[in-house]
Amino acid sequence: MADIPGKGAGLVSKRALKMDELILDERPLFVCARGMSVAVPPTFTPAQVGQYQLQKLEEYCEIAINRMRPEAKTAFMALWNCHKEDGSGPIMGICKCFQYGAMRRLIFFYRPSCSPNTAPRFHMRSFSYRLYAVRNIAAGEELTFQYTDVKSSTEKRQAALKPYDFVCACTTCKDTTKVSCEDPRSTSDWRRSVLTGFYAARKEQFKSPSVDEKLLDECCMMIELILREGLEHLPMYFDVVRLLMQGCVANGDAPGAREWAARLEKCYWDENRDTEEVMELLKSGPAYRKHPLWRTLVEPGVPGRPLNMTRMLEQSTA
Ligand SMILES: [Zn+2]
Repeated sequence: MADIPGKGAGLVSKRALKMDELILDERPLFVCARGMSVAVPPTFTPAQVGQYQLQKLEEYCEIAINRMRPEAKTAFMALWNCHKEDGSGPIMGICKCFQYGAMRRLIFFYRPSCSPNTAPRFHMRSFSYRLYAVRNIAAGEELTFQYTDVKSSTEKRQAALKPYDFVCACTTCKDTTKVSCEDPRSTSDWRRSVLTGFYAARKEQFKSPSVDEKLLDECCMMIELILREGLEHLPMYFDVVRLLMQGCVANGDAPGAREWAARLEKCYWDENRDTEEVMELLKSGPAYRKHPLWRTLVEPGVPGRPLNMTRMLEQSTA
């Protein structure tokens, strides 16, 4: 813990951390459902229905909390509650603060950032909450965490943080305000909206086992924007890196594929990393040559010369 000038107390790294390093591994104190369906009197307004459901969930959780070991219960109830004004009871107030239904005691000390350098993942096998460094972190650097949808605009992010009593003072938020009047395209807001647009439009293609050159070009641009914005913790980063690796496989470029695979391998915070298909692709050397995409973008007999998608399709249907 350290005092960060102009920001208050926060966690800083005591030593240099490498991208993919495990920073925290903690089992939850308490796990609960996000909501529950209960029979509600038909005369209730939507606001009353929400309030009634919260109240019922609080009652059910209270039974569980009272069965906890005294020290665990005390530790839980001592957690910060920033939802005191929205009708939540003390238990649900704390649960809402810490999200995921899992209690993250240390996470509270991580300052918010819209370009966070850590990312969480809940591991079912160990039933623990893990936090990873998503890029290299220098000794003495502040450890930061995503508290809101970092793909949205600065204005929306700040509004979303209000219930948490936070004003995000990260460099991204500050930079956008400073340059937004001059040229909208030079702002972080613009870059993030471009990324969101591309990702939404191409989302289905990221799931399909094929690549085309237009998509590869877009991914080259996307990876630049993602790294510039410090968004390695998002699923978007994983998907774009995987596609670039597949692109190298399709172009018969094994060294290139290996480079992207090395990046993919570090993404411990992304659940897709552990799927069979990705694990297969992470193998270097001969594994690429056995891949269904191997050299599909290369004209036979002409190494490295890419074919466009139309010609490729013509050939495969001929
Ligand atoms: Zn921010």
